[in-house]
Formats: sequence, C-alpha cells, structure tokens
Amino acid sequence: MPTASFLSALTGLFAQPAAENPTVAMVEAAYRDLGLDARCLTCEVPPASLGDAVRGARAMGWLGFNCSLPHKVAVIEHLDEVAESARLIGAVNCVAIRDGRLVGENTDGQRFLAAVQQVMDVHGARVTLLGAGGAARAIAIELGLAGAAGITIVNRGEERGRALAGDVGTVTPAAASYLPWRGPLAAPAGTDILVNATSIGLFPDPAVPAVDFDTVAAETLVADVIPNPPRTGFLAQAAARGCHTLDGLGMLVNQGVIGIRHWTGREANPDVMYAALAEVLR
Ligand code: NDP
Repeated sequence: MPTASFLSALTGLFAQPAAENPTVAMVEAAYRDLGLDARCLTCEVPPASLGDAVRGARAMGWLGFNCSLPHKVAVIEHLDEVAESARLIGAVNCVAIRDGRLVGENTDGQRFLAAVQQVMDVHGARVTLLGAGGAARAIAIELGLAGAAGITIVNRGEERGRALAGDVGTVTPAAASYLPWRGPLAAPAGTDILVNATSIGLFPDPAVPAVDFDTVAAETLVADVIPNPPRTGFLAQAAARGCHTLDGLGMLVNQGVIGIRHWTGREANPDVMYAALAEVLR
C-alpha cells in the first residue's frame, strides 16, 4: 500500500520533535493494528513550495496528508475538490488522494462533533463558544450544520468574534451572536454546551479561560480543544461544578480516526490510538 503521509509545517502544538510527535505515534499505531503497510511522516514545507509538495504527494502515490498552519487556506487552490463543510469553513486540514484526485476536508470541526455526539444530540442545542480562530470557526460551522439552535461566540477580539458570528448565521441555520469577553464570563442562561476553542491553557502555559463557573449549570457539557495537557484547568473547574467534560485528547483521537477513514476507508481502533498517545504524552 502506498505511504499515507503528513505534509505539514509542524505547528508547535506539541513541543516534542517529530520522532515523538503524538499524531505520528497515534496514526502509526492504528496502521499497525489494522495491518496496513503504511507510514505517517511529518514534512516541513515552506509556503512557497506548497504546490510542488502537493504535486509531489500525488506523484509519490500517497494516500493523503494533513496540513496545518500556515497551509490550511493556501492548499485549497491546489486541490481538485473541497468538501462542503470545508468550503464553508474556508480551510482544509486533511486531503485524501483518490485515483489521483485531491479531495480536501476539514476534520477540525468533525472531530469535535464526533466527540459531542458520543454523549448528546446536538440538534437544538445552545452553544457558548470561546474563541474565534481556526478551531472555533470549524467547530461553530459544523455544529450549525448539525442542527445546533444557537451559537454564542465569545472572543477577546471583537472584530474577529463578530465576523465569525456573522458567517455562522449566514452559512448555517443556527442563530449566531457575538458576546464581548471582558472579565470572567457569565455563561448565557440555557447554555447546553460550553467550549473552550481558544489556545489558552496549551502546555506549558497553565492559564485558564476567564469563566465564572458559578453561572454554569451542572447539566452543561463542557469541552476543551486543548489536547496537551488533557486535563486542563478549565475542565477541572467544570468537573468541580459537576459538569460532564470532553477533553482535547479525545478530539485528537477522533481526528486520527476520521483522517484514516478518509485516506484508507478503514475504521481505526480509538483505544489503540489512546494507548499510543499516553506513551508519548506521559
Ligand atoms: P488561532 O490562533 O486561530 O485562534 C486562537 C484563539 O484563541 C483566538 O480566538 C484568540 O482570540 C484566542 N486567544 C488566544 N490567547 C488568548 C488570551 N490570552 N485571551 C483571550 N483569548 C485568547 O488558533 P486555532 O483556533 O487554530 O487553535 C486554537 C487551539 O485549538 C490550539 O491552541 C490547539 O491547542 C487547539 N487545537 C486542537 C486540536 C485537537 O485535535 N484537539 C486540533 C486543532 C487545534 P483573539 O481573536 O482575541 O486573538
């Protein structure tokens, strides 16, 4: 089987060198478990070489690749097809190469949706989303397309927050609004899902997004996209409040499962992937 590979400028999401990269460890463990003769590589591609690198991936018979910043938008012009949700999000982080055709997907929102759907139905849910960057955008649009009733975007930067709320309200049926974030956030009444989609709390910074958890109902599902550490201060506060929590590690595993599905058509075992991550992140 041709190599399944990652074409990416390493994001700094994790501090480890490529040999200890959690995504590589997780994906290769899944390949071994599935009996696939495939590898997962990380390649650092300068922006000026992106087109050559994409054509090279096709020429070398790769199954596909993930791409991270700064390539998530620029890669689109080199693809043959872009899935509907990736088009609406305006960014691609996963490309499958099928019969020589390059098909772009955005799995940032899909991985989140898959994690939430394991514990609740998002249809009709009222969501409070912290952040308006790439991760928040993918999550908001997937939730809106999946039938969330309302999405409140809370962001430090007003312009970016308002722009995302406007886009979500335009391209999905959800009612979307922007809420300024000045001081500890009082969660809007009736919030069913509260999500940290900012970069606050990523290792080694132990900072916690400013939320007044006294205003968060115990029935609220609280999720954090930060995968490292899996147990963030944000989730610890939510758990102390009695809320059900979802961590970023689960979303990272989902991202791997969805990527492998796009590249190979096979269903990877999440338990094998968790075990591989635990080895690298311990
Ligand atoms: P962006 O840089 O696009 O956006 C960062 C967001 O965080 C912005 O909304 C920014 O607000 C906000 N923010 C950053 N610092 C602060 C602060 N001190 N106070 C208030 N708000 C702040 O990043 P991404 O959206 O691409 O990524 C966000 C995080 O998502 C990453 O750190 C990563 O950990 C996580 N991620 C997790 C994945 C997983 O599989 N679990 C996959 C992909 C990403 P402002 O607009 O005001 O600057």
